[in-house]
Amino acid sequence: MILPTTKGELRIRPNDPALHPIAEKVEAGERISREDAISLFETDDLLAVGGMADLVNRRLNGDRVFYVANQHINPTNVCILNKVCVFCSYGVRPLAEDAYTMSLEEVFAEAEAARCAPTREFHIVGGLHPKLPLSYYTDMIRGLKERHPHVHVKALTAVEIAHLARMEGIETRDVLREMIDAGLDAMPGGGAEVFSPAVRSTIADRKLAADEWLRVHREAHELGVPTNCTLLYGHVESAADRVDHMLMLRELQDETGGFSTFIPLAWHPDNTALGREMGVEGKRTGGVDDLKALAVGRILLDNVPHIKTHWIMVTTRVSQIALSFGVDDLEGTVVLEKVTHTAGADTPLRLDLDEIVGLIRDAGKVPVERDSLYNPVREPVVA
Ligand code: SF4
Repeated sequence: MILPTTKGELRIRPNDPALHPIAEKVEAGERISREDAISLFETDDLLAVGGMADLVNRRLNGDRVFYVANQHINPTNVCILNKVCVFCSYGVRPLAEDAYTMSLEEVFAEAEAARCAPTREFHIVGGLHPKLPLSYYTDMIRGLKERHPHVHVKALTAVEIAHLARMEGIETRDVLREMIDAGLDAMPGGGAEVFSPAVRSTIADRKLAADEWLRVHREAHELGVPTNCTLLYGHVESAADRVDHMLMLRELQDETGGFSTFIPLAWHPDNTALGREMGVEGKRTGGVDDLKALAVGRILLDNVPHIKTHWIMVTTRVSQIALSFGVDDLEGTVVLEKVTHTAGADTPLRLDLDEIVGLIRDAGKVPVERDSLYNPVREPVVA
């Protein structure tokens, strides 16, 4: 139960008595512990968890909900880790029937959609191609910036950056420097999966280890590039694994302050080796779990300014409810999503701006269109 006080602050009275001391900490603006966060995942008192997250979010962002007119670009699905990441359906062998690699001209042609739309961000991620050099990506960024100077470029996960560094025989910091020189504005948060070594060895053995993922993000922050952070949930991980993962993110954020947004990513099992092995193809994370991942993220990561719901994975309906569970970012237009849809997502490939604005307004919130760096572009937006 959530009650207003005479001072206008919200008071949370959980039905689950185990949550009372946690609610008191949240009301007092204190940090919650590892054990507290595990309790939040394990309780059935979803509304109390949502109320705490809502309180934290209101203090940070008020009623504002951000969204961005963005376009995803996935230059290649060829990936040398296609046998390693057993949770992934996107990466394929170079000679696979459905393998594709876009030429730069094809990338620029796809990005032309930005010319007649108010696109503010290109979000670029893909597989670890065995032959594409760093110059392919820097030429891509440079070419996009020349053609669309008003559009921010958010490109390449820490895993892709480490792959390019290995291929080029240089340091990850040097890869980042070259990308910044080409016009990189921000970095996405993919590839983190779950930091637990046991989970990682089950779902993505030999993929970039947790400390390396964190190191690349630390380097990006030191070079002035803001980044996002993620957690892939809903497979073999435990509540403690999720919490430990978030605590490692919180620790780096205390050090650098470079994370803009935390985005929990709901695993989609279709067409994946792990989904087949677990016998869960066609299944999805439930709405309760989706809301808890977002809400606990909001409460635990008290130093990360924004929490984003990825409507592509959790549906627009859950995303809309999430706006009362600590979430202040409803993703964006996306335009052409490929990665999650290869794993069975049945959500739309894109949303129009007026659909996003309608979802936010119907939830009683104030829509704020933003750029990659969370600068408001228009507020409020006329639908
Ligand atoms: S998760 Fe990324 S690195 Fe792993 S196989 Fe898929 S595309 Fe490749």
